[in-house]
Amino acid sequence: MSQYWSPAVRELTPYVPGEQPREQLVKLNTNENPYPPAPGVGEALRDYATDHLRLYPDPTSASLRAALAETLNVHSRQIFVGNGSDEVLAFAFQAFFCHNAPLDVPAITYSFYPVYANLYGVELRKHPLNAQWEVDTQALADGGERSGVIFANPNAPTGHAHSLATIEALLQRVTDRVVLVDEAYVDFGAESAVALVNRYPNLLVTSTFSKSRSLAGLRLGYAVGSEELIDGLQRVKDSFNSYPVDSLASLVGIAALKDTEHFEACREHVITTRERTRQRLEGLGFEVLPSKANFVLTQHPEHAGPQLFAGLRERGILVRHFNTPELNNFLRITIGTDDEMDSLMEALEVICG
Ligand SMILES: *Cc1c(COP(=O)(O)O)cnc(C)c1O
Repeated sequence: MSQYWSPAVRELTPYVPGEQPREQLVKLNTNENPYPPAPGVGEALRDYATDHLRLYPDPTSASLRAALAETLNVHSRQIFVGNGSDEVLAFAFQAFFCHNAPLDVPAITYSFYPVYANLYGVELRKHPLNAQWEVDTQALADGGERSGVIFANPNAPTGHAHSLATIEALLQRVTDRVVLVDEAYVDFGAESAVALVNRYPNLLVTSTFSKSRSLAGLRLGYAVGSEELIDGLQRVKDSFNSYPVDSLASLVGIAALKDTEHFEACREHVITTRERTRQRLEGLGFEVLPSKANFVLTQHPEHAGPQLFAGLRERGILVRHFNTPELNNFLRITIGTDDEMDSLMEALEVICG
């Protein structure tokens, strides 16, 4: 606490990211991709540094937006890009959710949403998950007067994904405010709501290069929606933080989008390893929530979450534990390489005896 901080800053509860250790650990705690980015990324970087790095980036990120538009089959005027999807989410809160009414959100979801709500003074209306640990989209739509709706599909940290029909049913009921679907993990087996943006002008879909494109260190994210929503985001960006995506990030992002073969192979590998991991965990008596993401949320009936977390940490394996009443018994385990998952399972076999 400092006397110089404003009351609002004193009240903040900042987001706490998963640990980024310096030691060599089997790192399964922050949902990074275990495989390298597309090979074209390295070549593009070397050539670009020599010829272009001295210049300022394109303020409109035109070529990156064009590449994304082609990949996603929308118009480039329907794409907004930012420095990580967390930045895009911040702009979305300012552009769409700062009304004098609550924002409908699942009670268990990405923990950055409450942080931004707190920062921007947006009240949350939290809806419990159902008995299967799934986001209750009916309840989200029931809310009444609201500033908007936000949820992740697949949800974090549970991994559950909704069908497109379920999301469309929600959109048919919520038409007055923005519905933001955060698709950070959609490439690991869920259906993308980008297919709906031309029919629902209040639908904003956000996503990131951090997970399925193996580029968490780059900080590149985007939003897809109607032109009026994209213009809203642009107005906030140009009034608050007009720094465009840097030119290296654009270049690398485009190179990653072009290599569809690498992308497909990589995500299929993660999906296959996820399913094998689920079976092996179940073999040890774990309950594993069905996941369409690159992680699983799991608990053991006889071994408490904090003890499992500590036992793995002692053996050089880092997973994510959330110290909240609902999730205290669970571990969220990122899907790593097959070797990393072997190490995890060997350690768990010892710990669980
Ligand atoms: C990882 C994650 C993000 C943030 O992605 P960045 O582009 O790395 O900022 C956003 N939403 C969810 C649900 C995530 O898990």
